[in-house]
Parts: sequence; C-alpha cells; structure tokens
Amino acid sequence: MSLEMLIIGAGPAGISMGVEAVASGIESEKVLILEKAPEHSYMIRKFYPDQKLVTANYKGQAAVCNGVMCIPDYSKSETLSYLDQAIEKHKIKVNYQETVWKLEQLKDGSFFVSSDKGEYQTKTCIIAIGMMGKPNKPDYKIPGDLKGKVHFDITSQKIENSKVLVVGGGDSASEYVQYLSQEGNSVDLSYRKDSFGRMNEININSLMALNERGETELVLNSNVCELKSNGEMVEVIFKEEIKSRLYEHVVYALGGSTPKNFLKLLKIEFTGEDDQPVVKDGYETSIPGLFLVGDLSAGKRGGSIISAFNSSHEAMKKICTDYLTCKI
Ligand SMILES: Cc1cc2nc3c(=O)[nH]c(=O)nc-3n(C[C@H](O)[C@H](O)[C@H](O)COP(=O)(O)OP(=O)(O)OC[C@H]3O[C@@H](n4cnc5c(N)ncnc54)[C@H](O)[C@@H]3O)c2cc1C
Repeated sequence: MSLEMLIIGAGPAGISMGVEAVASGIESEKVLILEKAPEHSYMIRKFYPDQKLVTANYKGQAAVCNGVMCIPDYSKSETLSYLDQAIEKHKIKVNYQETVWKLEQLKDGSFFVSSDKGEYQTKTCIIAIGMMGKPNKPDYKIPGDLKGKVHFDITSQKIENSKVLVVGGGDSASEYVQYLSQEGNSVDLSYRKDSFGRMNEININSLMALNERGETELVLNSNVCELKSNGEMVEVIFKEEIKSRLYEHVVYALGGSTPKNFLKLLKIEFTGEDDQPVVKDGYETSIPGLFLVGDLSAGKRGGSIISAFNSSHEAMKKICTDYLTCKI
C-alpha cells in the first residue's frame, strides 16, 4: 500500500498527527496509523486510574494549544472519548494489533515499512510510540517465584484487600496509592527521598490526606534493594537500616524509558551526552522524512497530552514545507 504518511503508535501524539495531516489537506486514505495494542491510547487506558483528573497543565507545562487538537482538564473517560471522536471525525484509519518489524529508507527518500501483518511504502513516517513501552525496572533481580506479586502497572492484575507497597515518588506513584487504597488495600509508599519534589499539588495533597487519616504509611528515605519470597508474602529489604517488611504485592511506579532499542534499530542518531534521540526543527530525526512526536521527543522532563498535540502540529508544518503537498 502506498501512503503519504504512516504513523506508528495511536496515542495522543499519533492521533493528533493523523488529524493534523487530514486538516492540512492530505486525503485520509493516504494516512495510516499502526497500533500494537488492541485499542488506541493504550498507555492512558493502562496507567491512568479510572477516577483520575487528566490535567491540561500536567507537570506544570503550559496548557496552550497551537494546533487542531486541545483538551481542558478532563476525566479519563472524557479524554478517551475526545480521542475517539478525533479519529472518527477525521476518518483516520488505525490498524490495531499490528507491530512494525522493519523500516528502511529507499533511494528516493520514501520508506518501506514491514509489520507482522503487511508491507507499506510511505513518503513520510512518524514514530509516536511514547515512553511507556517498557516501564523502568529496578536494577536488582526480581526472583521468579514472586511472579503475580510484583507489578509494573496496576491494571494487568486486580489487586484488592491486600497489603501493598508502592515504590516511587512521582505522580504515578501517588495515583497508584490513591487507586489501590480505594480498592480496599492497605498501601505503603516507599520513596528514596525525604519529600515529593516531582509530584503535582493535587497528588501531594491527596497522598498527605491519606497519610493523615492513617490510611497509608510513607516510608521516606528508603531504597528497596532486594525482594525475597517469604511464605505467601514478599519480603522487602531496604538499603538503609529499616527493618525488612512483608507485603502481599509490590508495585513499582518508576516511570518509563525511551524505547531506545526500537529507535536505534531504525538507525536514528542519539546524542552522546544524555543518550536522547536527536530531533531537529519540526521534530525531524537525523533521517530526513522520519519524525518523532509526543513523549518520545519530550526529553528527560517528560511530556503531556497538549505537548504531544503541539509536537504533531510543528511536525506537520515541517512536512508541508519540505515533503508533502499540504497547507497549514
Ligand atoms: C500515570 C500518568 C499520568 C499522567 N497524567 C497526565 C495528565 O493528567 N495530563 C497530561 O497532559 N498528561 C499526563 N500524562 C502524560 C501523558 O499521558 C503523555 O504525555 C501522553 O500520553 C504522551 O502521548 P504519546 O502519544 O506520545 O504516547 P503514549 O500515550 O504512550 O501512546 C503511545 C501509543 O503507541 C503505542 N505503541 C507503543 N509502542 C508501539 C509500537 N512499537 N508499535 C505500535 N504502537 C506502539 C502504545 O500502545 C500507545 O497506544 C500522564 C502520564 C502517566 C504515566
């Protein structure tokens, strides 16, 4: 199939990229998104607690939208329904459960993309796979017999009426604690620092309120260094002189990392200093016509939904100027 634009990943960045393309005059049949999950915005579905407030100024980023798409503060379901409607309204075709294996640039500058389900030729290619493809894991080994008791998200397995330790200190750690407490769990939070500098105000306040009501214990200045099986429980051992503790479940909220292997496989250049993919004007990579949008291009600070929308708008400007016949 010959395309003007192939987008990998149907999260806020990939969807807004498709919307920007159609809004700037590219025929929707010439735009295709390949999403490896069974539904779009899989990271949002998987990692956001259901009752989460999706803030427009996430992590203090300006809630200013430059392109076609924009959100105010929304609930999780409103956010997903806004993204659903964007796909529908702009007739964006998304192939679900399709994973890209190979991407090569041809002599004429176009790309040949092979997936587990098909082969495509496209004039431009956009990578919008986010950061959460592989959640960060601790550097110590998790014993195999703890399978089902140690988690890197809270939706793969239902955790209720249990004694749980959440490990981490960012917004997702607080949101996991709030969600798990609501599910009837007794939840403690282990964080390596003495305060929560990386959390937004709503999440700090919610966490502190739980702590004041005695519903969660904050184990600050604690570094988990080992997990052991102890009967039916997980024994958590700390580097500091803190007595080891027993939990039924341990949940890590250590954030995600750039799916570097995927990008390196595509031979995208990385900076030597902080090992981030090089993105130029309009979010173009070192390979002409290949763009990185959304969290992938947001750097170490991380992105937001609006910054993902805005990155697509900037990429589209560059694409209309240098590659496709379109107008923005
Ligand atoms: C717990 C948590 C809370 C957050 N709260 C907020 C908030 O309140 N407000 C806000 O603005 N932002 C929030 N964010 C950040 C926001 O969710 C991200 O900035 C945004 O989702 C980034 O969009 P994206 O499209 O770049 O990536 P993602 O949302 O990660 O989407 C990537 C998509 O690509 C797919 N994919 C991955 N790999 C492949 C592959 N190889 N092939 C095909 N498809 C692939 C994934 O399945 C996914 O659907 C939060 C993040 C987290 C983790």
